[in-house]
Amino acid sequence: MSKPENDAATAHDSMNAETTSGVSRRALVAGFAAASVGVACLAMSRPARAQTKMSQADAKYQDSPKGSEKCAGCGLFAAPDACNAVDGKISPEGWCQLYSPKA
Ligand code: SF4
Repeated sequence: MSKPENDAATAHDSMNAETTSGVSRRALVAGFAAASVGVACLAMSRPARAQTKMSQADAKYQDSPKGSEKCAGCGLFAAPDACNAVDGKISPEGWCQLYSPKA
């Protein structure tokens, strides 16, 4: 069994051959690459996603105050029961190691 001498030429020709829709494969590949670059640019132009909050465990959150310090007096507290830095439900009577008194 011998291979036809023009295998390479046949493969090359098929790369340039037009599909049944009249568009060459090379043009399709180039179009796909351009579209991919466009999608990547759109993704990069979006504003950065909001940072995720720290877990209560990592912040060493507790449901009770630490001395006179408590979430209600913290600048990061978001009434009625949230925090801008710590995830989950936060009690105004709670405390964590990120405590920062209101200015
Ligand atoms: S002490 Fe401040 S930072 Fe910590 S959980 Fe309470 S409100 Fe958030």
